[in-house]
Amino acid sequence: MREKVSPPKPEDKKKRFIVVKKRPFFTTTTRIVCPYCGNDEDFWEYAEGVTIKTHYIQNEDGSFSPISDDTQIFGEIRFICGKCNSDLTKYHKQFLEMLF
Ligand SMILES: [Zn+2]
Repeated sequence: MREKVSPPKPEDKKKRFIVVKKRPFFTTTTRIVCPYCGNDEDFWEYAEGVTIKTHYIQNEDGSFSPISDDTQIFGEIRFICGKCNSDLTKYHKQFLEMLF
């Protein structure tokens, strides 16, 4: 005689553990480190489709002084590791926040 072994019934009451993950405040600067080669010094910003329009005033001596520049970027901006050329565009926002 064989008994059927039924799998244990799941409990009706599911216990839920809600883990609240709080992002720590950036008390110290989080440096961008290339996850591929560990480079944390050299980076390139690469922009495609850039129109650079600079307004100059010609001075009396024939030299020019820039008044304003109106640079427009139409394409994609990529952020690239300066050592292994990996695409680190996901860090570009952080780069802009840390750009002074
Ligand atoms: Zn790298």
